[in-house]
Amino acid sequence: MTELAVSPETAALFAGDSELAQRCRALDWSATSLGPVDDWPTALRTAVRMALECPFPINMWCGPELLLIYNDAYRDVLGIKHPASLGKPGREVWGEIWPEISPMFDVIRRGGSPVYAENARFIMERESGPPREAWFTFSLSPIRDESGDVIAFLNVATETTTRVRAERDAQEARAAAERAEGQLRDVFSQAPAFMAVLKGPSHVFEFANEAYVHLVDHRDIIGKPIADALPEVFAQGFVDLLDRVLASGQAHVGRATPVRLKRGAAGESSLRYLDFVYQPLIDARGDRVGIVVHGADVTDAVRARHEVERLWVESEQARANVQASEARYRFLADAIPVQVWTATPDGALDHVSDLTAKYFGQTPAQLIGEGWLAVLHPDDVAATTGRWEQSLGSGAPYEAEYRLWSAAHASYRWHLARATAQRDDHGAIIRWFGTNTEIEEQKRAERELQRLTMEALEANRAKSDFLAAMSHELRTPLNAIGGYAQLIEMGLRGPVTDEQRVDLLKIQRSKNHLDGLVSDVLNFAKLGSGKIDFRVRPISVRQTVDAVIEMVAPQLVQKALRLESYAAPNDGHILADADRTRQILLNVFANALKFTAPGGTITPDVCVEPGLVLISVRDTGIGIPTEQLDRIFEPFIQVRRSVDSSDHGFGLGLAISRQLARAMGGDLTVRSEVGRGSTFTLTLPRAHI
Ligand code: ADP
Repeated sequence: MTELAVSPETAALFAGDSELAQRCRALDWSATSLGPVDDWPTALRTAVRMALECPFPINMWCGPELLLIYNDAYRDVLGIKHPASLGKPGREVWGEIWPEISPMFDVIRRGGSPVYAENARFIMERESGPPREAWFTFSLSPIRDESGDVIAFLNVATETTTRVRAERDAQEARAAAERAEGQLRDVFSQAPAFMAVLKGPSHVFEFANEAYVHLVDHRDIIGKPIADALPEVFAQGFVDLLDRVLASGQAHVGRATPVRLKRGAAGESSLRYLDFVYQPLIDARGDRVGIVVHGADVTDAVRARHEVERLWVESEQARANVQASEARYRFLADAIPVQVWTATPDGALDHVSDLTAKYFGQTPAQLIGEGWLAVLHPDDVAATTGRWEQSLGSGAPYEAEYRLWSAAHASYRWHLARATAQRDDHGAIIRWFGTNTEIEEQKRAERELQRLTMEALEANRAKSDFLAAMSHELRTPLNAIGGYAQLIEMGLRGPVTDEQRVDLLKIQRSKNHLDGLVSDVLNFAKLGSGKIDFRVRPISVRQTVDAVIEMVAPQLVQKALRLESYAAPNDGHILADADRTRQILLNVFANALKFTAPGGTITPDVCVEPGLVLISVRDTGIGIPTEQLDRIFEPFIQVRRSVDSSDHGFGLGLAISRQLARAMGGDLTVRSEVGRGSTFTLTLPRAHI
């Protein structure tokens, strides 16, 4: 820099080594609107001198064009505008901010107050590149001459760009942090997990999200210590836990922890299971200032798990029961002397007791599936499998008789097989449970019984044949006796004395009695061999009974018995064989006569019912002991001989009569009391004509 030759005043004004002092000295001020330095007002010169020596950035806007005179410290404000700015008009130097600053000069010139601005923002072009923001704290005050006119402006300025930017960044950072915190709170508030912030040693609720508030049944907890807000939690030891976390700085993690929480106005407690974390909250200084409580209500999951566990235990129990009952079943199956087996729903044998297998001289494995068919008698295979298929198809119980091989007897033996289907809850067959019972002995007994029955029938027939033949043979000599007695009585063999006549009468009576006995035997024999023919047709009850009464009337008189009259409907008819019916009634009347002492009464009676007619004969005779009532209908059974010892029979009459009645679809029954009499009742089907 070439220094001009300056006056001692100028040199004194711009004295010093500072760059601007040197530049001021070098500048030809007389070429500017300020004019030669020597002509400058004293006030200006004093101010310039002070400014150049001041370490604080100072610029002076001098003269009417507001030419710039500044110190070294102000260079940074100008940037690349330095050093060209020195002695240049303000409008030229600061064209980009002139609209903003020029009014300040005007205001002061017009007597307004000096300007003081803090962190005023300007867009400046003081470095290469696009204009940039800059901030200044500055004052602008007038420099006046002796007459008080403003000759310049003193501008003390300090750039605060760095600080402002730092503050702005800090502010933005704070805002961002607040925004982030707000967002975080929103997220926390709506999070399905519960969350709360507890502050200080007494764990005061500072924040609780919706899930937490819901968990504690919407109680008013914010701002309250946890021990007051949730007393039941305190009682369960959770506050101690919080104290420990705060004291140690170690987080606590709880899994499916049971917690009793009060619910509702009545305050009944509800058991919840919580997964949670107590996380110490550390501030910027590293102090533990609180605890973040964070977690989830896992009650449903825990209950579901408990339920699953319970069901598992139950199913294990059920399985154990099934195993135990199966073991019991196998024990029983092996212990009982019946062959026991089970089969699958499709009929394949899946289990055979050891005892069963042993019976066949086989192992259970050999019989499984269709193996058992090998021990079945070949002649029984078709019928048995057919029957089995039928049960498998219908599910109906299976029953069959067949022969199975017995290893011990080395022969086939008869068995009765039975099986029933075991069904599940839906009715589907899950298994067949079967048994085989050996019935060889029963079968043998059955065959023996059949044989004996056949033999008995045969013997009976032979007996009947014999009796029939014998009776027939007896008839011929009896008829001869009767015939010859009659011849003598008629006097054909010579005169007959009175004594002889009496004897002949006795012969006749004995012959008749014998004839009756032979008839009984013959009838009985015929009944036994089924050789009696019945001519069943409608017959009148009255006529039949009257005919019989007529036949016994002489004997009634003879025995001094009274016959009660009876009422029988005229139109009462029975469907029966007339001869056989008379035979039955005759037998019943004859017995009444036989077993009733003289002076007694015999009372017939007829009762007509819708499908039946009952004909009864009551006597006042000796009666029959109760224990003998059934036996008198058996052949050859006599309880007591008749009251008239000359008049007894074979004990066949009632046996024959009952068989005849039954053969005609009726019956013969008795009621009796010893000493009071008997009532015999013949029942026969009624004929509707
Ligand atoms: P019987 O030829 O001996 O009369 P029945 O078969 O007619 O044979 O009778 C069998 C037995 O029943 C008789 O012997 C008698 O003991 C008893 N009995 C039958 N009817 C009467 C009656 N009305 N009163 C008492 N006993 C009777």
